[in-house]
Order: sequence, then structure tokens, then C-alpha cells
Amino acid sequence: MSKLSLAYIFQQQQLLVDQHFQLPRVEALASDLLLHTGDQVIARDLLPDEPIPPGLQLVPIRQLLQFWNTQQFEQASRAVQLLEWRRNHKFCSHCGTATEAHAVEYAMVCPSCNYRQYPRVQPCVITVITKGKDEILLAKNARNTKSQMYGLIAGFVEVGETLEDAVRRETLEEVGLKLKNIQYLASQPWPFPSNLMIAFKAEYAGGELQLQEEEISDAQFFKFDQLPEIPFKGSIAHAMIMHVTQGTPVADDTKTWL
Ligand SMILES: [Zn+2]
Repeated sequence: MSKLSLAYIFQQQQLLVDQHFQLPRVEALASDLLLHTGDQVIARDLLPDEPIPPGLQLVPIRQLLQFWNTQQFEQASRAVQLLEWRRNHKFCSHCGTATEAHAVEYAMVCPSCNYRQYPRVQPCVITVITKGKDEILLAKNARNTKSQMYGLIAGFVEVGETLEDAVRRETLEEVGLKLKNIQYLASQPWPFPSNLMIAFKAEYAGGELQLQEEEISDAQFFKFDQLPEIPFKGSIAHAMIMHVTQGTPVADDTKTWL
């Protein structure tokens, strides 16, 4: 009898879980993406016409953050990103030949020119900005018209930039402010679709609030004890805001599974 594998089965960004939000165990297939060999963890896509197995449900992985610990969420995040990478690299980007999955590495290999395509992460900086001893800058995303949630300034690192350059540029572009004392805090893989969020804290150094309207609909310095609605627990933005306003640690120092 073959051993059943713990399975991350996705339909886009939704994952199949049971009523207790736990993963199912299934017979492994040759087409599965192997995540862990020791205790057999696999990932696969649920085909569009495939029915949802009885007792299971599709839940957006974003929602699983509240039921799962960091380790579970990070493995799901790895699974969804690797599946998406495999789906998007079926052909060689150099010569156009159909690629083959490498036997042991996460690489899609071209049998014609040998070009290898590896999974990539997009570095994205996110910054918590303080002014004086008790004020924090929070900004409302212009695309988020449904809620009153205020978050932090974030954006992708551009080619040729340092992380600190990206922090300074994004802040100047989005809210018109200059920064000082930029310091690294922590990072979080964020699979929407394949980002690595790199968290910094910085202090206000000068300038008047001037909003980039396509990105930011409002930004204000809030007193630490008068915060508006902020991003949900489990997101790095939440941890960063709690860190500067309440002194809680931003990174999970209890992490021991690597
Ligand atoms: Zn090729």
C-alpha cells in the first residue's frame, strides 16, 4: 500500500482544506510538484473541471493566515508560488522550445539550448515612518475603496536600486516626504503573486505631505494611541505598526523549523 502524501491542492489562490482548515492526504501523482521528500508533501493544481472532493472546501490562502501558524502559511505560500512558476515557464524564454522539469532542482530546463529558468521572487520594500516620539504615518491605498483601512508605504524595488534607495524613492513619490535613519526590521514571503516583503523603519526628515493620487487617497500622521483601522494580524504591516506603537517584536524570534 502506498503512503498518502500531505497535499496542497490549489485553484489559483484558493486551497483545498477540510472543515478544520487542515490539508487533505492523497495518492501522489507523477505530475505533482514535490515540496518535501521526508514526509511526502506535494502541491498540484485542481483542474478547472475537477469536482471539489467531498468534505473539502476551497479557501483563499489569505484567509488561512488567521487559522494557521507562520510555518504552515509559509509552506502554502511556497507551494502556490512554485506551482504558478511551473505553469508560467512551460516554454524556454530564450528559444521557445517546450521545457522539462529538472529531476531534483526547482528549474525548468530547455532540452534544446539548456537554458534554465528558476523561480524568482520580487523584492518589495515596506516602510513604517515615525515623526517625533508618538506619531506614525499611515496611508490609504487609492485602489482600496471598500474599507477605511490605513496601511504603510510599499513598492517594488527597481533594477539597479539598493533597498534603501527604494524606500526613499517610494516615500518621496507616494507622499512627498524625506526620510532619515532607515533601518531594516524583518521580511515576509508574500505569495500575491510572488513577493518578498522587506520591512524597514524610518524617521520623518522633512517635506510636506503631497499625495500621488493614483496610489494614495489619504495619508496622515496619527498619534500612537489614535490609530485608524490597520491591516490584519498576520501581515507584516500589522506587525510593523504594532512594533513602533507598542514595542512588540516585528519578527518571529521563536521560529525554529529551518
Ligand atoms: Zn531554449
